[in-house]
Amino acid sequence: MRQHEVVIIGGGLAGMRAAQKAQEMGADVAMISKIYPTRSHSAAAQGGVQAAVSENDSWESHAYDTVKGSDYLGDQDAIEILCYEAPGDIYALERMGVIFNRNDDGTIDARAFGGTSVNRTCFVADQTGQVLLHVMWEQLLKSGLTTYSEWFVTKLLVEDNKIAGCVALEIPTGRVEVFRAKAIVLATGGIGQVYNPTTNGLVVTADGQALAYQAGATLMDMEAVQHHPTTMQANGVLITEGARGEGAYLLNSNGERFMEKYAPNMKELASRDVVSRAETMEIREGRGVNGCVLLDLRHLGRDLIMTKLAQIYELARDYANTNILEAPVPIQPGHHYIMGGIKTDVDGRTWDITGENRWAGVEGLFAAGECANVSVHGGNRLGGNSLLDTIVFGKRSGAGATEYANSIDWAPISEDAALADEESGIKAIFDRPSDGLRSSALRFEMGKSMNDGIAVFRTEEGMTQTLNTVRDIKGRFPNVSVQNKGRVFNTDLLSVLELGYMLDVAEVIAVSAINRKESRGAHAREDYPDRNDEEYLKHTIVHRGKNGDPALDYLPVTMTKWEPQVRSY
Ligand SMILES: Cc1cc2nc3c(=O)[nH]c(=O)nc-3n(C[C@H](O)[C@H](O)[C@H](O)COP(=O)(O)OP(=O)(O)OC[C@H]3O[C@@H](n4cnc5c(N)ncnc54)[C@H](O)[C@@H]3O)c2cc1C
Repeated sequence: MRQHEVVIIGGGLAGMRAAQKAQEMGADVAMISKIYPTRSHSAAAQGGVQAAVSENDSWESHAYDTVKGSDYLGDQDAIEILCYEAPGDIYALERMGVIFNRNDDGTIDARAFGGTSVNRTCFVADQTGQVLLHVMWEQLLKSGLTTYSEWFVTKLLVEDNKIAGCVALEIPTGRVEVFRAKAIVLATGGIGQVYNPTTNGLVVTADGQALAYQAGATLMDMEAVQHHPTTMQANGVLITEGARGEGAYLLNSNGERFMEKYAPNMKELASRDVVSRAETMEIREGRGVNGCVLLDLRHLGRDLIMTKLAQIYELARDYANTNILEAPVPIQPGHHYIMGGIKTDVDGRTWDITGENRWAGVEGLFAAGECANVSVHGGNRLGGNSLLDTIVFGKRSGAGATEYANSIDWAPISEDAALADEESGIKAIFDRPSDGLRSSALRFEMGKSMNDGIAVFRTEEGMTQTLNTVRDIKGRFPNVSVQNKGRVFNTDLLSVLELGYMLDVAEVIAVSAINRKESRGAHAREDYPDRNDEEYLKHTIVHRGKNGDPALDYLPVTMTKWEPQVRSY
């Protein structure tokens, strides 16, 4: 058995930042990641990270834009912390070695992004996430952090509703081990592969959300799933919002800049939900181009494109066979992000420390980054605010977990029982006939169904159909088999485990979405087209009920100084 006071599950930006903070505070900390940490999806972030670092900006303005972007579903106390701490965290990253793009006077440059009133997105060309992640990793290597790379966490161990540890499988050997911990921080990222296509990497499979849910924690606002306006049709690969931030146009088949109609002031830089809906309307009304609209960068010129958007040039060339210097690239809305996640407070705790038990949680379990929902994004996330979320709340949850671990004794743990349980689960999968159902087929069916029913526009009928499909797949899941029955690097087995996580989370998304009978942020219902503050200015919360089905409830939204207003761009 391994033992660390604080165990961080996830080696993306949120996990690294949490580990760094915990280590700084003197905790005995270890980080577990199912892939080599610098391959985490954070590395795919292109556009940038928001922070009010310019002279003409303020954290209050950032907070207001975020509240408005969230369609008033974000918790304003958390949003204030996010925006207030942002500049300090950006300078801290700079001091670690992140080479942000600069203005001529040496200050950090900021580009325009959707839904922001001033240019606020700090960036490193179009590779921001890659640079942040590598710099942070260098710092952790230097500090000698204990890292378990290519270890796959399969279960959280909970005793008496308190975290006792987790079980993990070492992928290269197939060996299963128990990790004892006083506190665990989940930083496992998003749910991408629940949808097909998605902009997210293949490893983004909702593990943390499902592990937390299965352990008794609460998932919040899971219906808030974001489709990004500019993804490529063939495979869902993203073209950064930075392209529009630098001035690219969206055109329909008549060559019109159609956003002028939908968002007269902000046009292409309205927030993502607004732009994705506008594109879908243009395509539906016959002004699309083979199911897409066009993103035109030609007028930006070679110099700007090759210095600030060089990766986009390559992606469009490789995946859409388009030279963006000479022709517009066809794009469409595609799955990108989940605002919802594991309910936490502003220090990453998944349980309610007020003692009022307003939501179900697990003591000692923390969460940060995309898998968490401290509720800074509400119904719709602004571009650039997610990297910021990982940095600010990664740090805060690392601190929270360390303080908590310092305050308690080790919980009892039954290693043998946990190992036996895990081994019998794996054996059951291996015992099934090799020619049975394939996890890849079920993943595909689930992903397509989610994109059919719970995407840019939603209806009761479509969402119910998706829920039925997901439940039907859940029914077939116990017959999924693997062809590879060895223990060494068995990705066939991991794919089955991941599918199990994703099915639980897909079901929660569908149930949450069906029950929000209004339109707010990315949750746009054709049968309830208006926002309904009277009945639905509240968070959807779900925990696993006694019978194993999602049990739904609601929590109030925290307001500080911004009353809901009509949202226009
Ligand atoms: C293509 C793309 C571009 C983006 N661009 C931007 C942008 O420009 N600006 C912005 O703000 N946001 C952007 N985002 C969103 C942002 O990048 C992510 O929300 C954020 O990086 C998530 O970080 P994370 O640390 O929470 O998770 P991740 O970086 O996804 O890391 C998750 C970690 O958890 C580990 N893990 C998962 N499951 C397990 C398990 N069972 N056992 C062990 N380890 C596990 C993985 O190994 C990984 O290390 C973008 C997202 C995508 C997909």
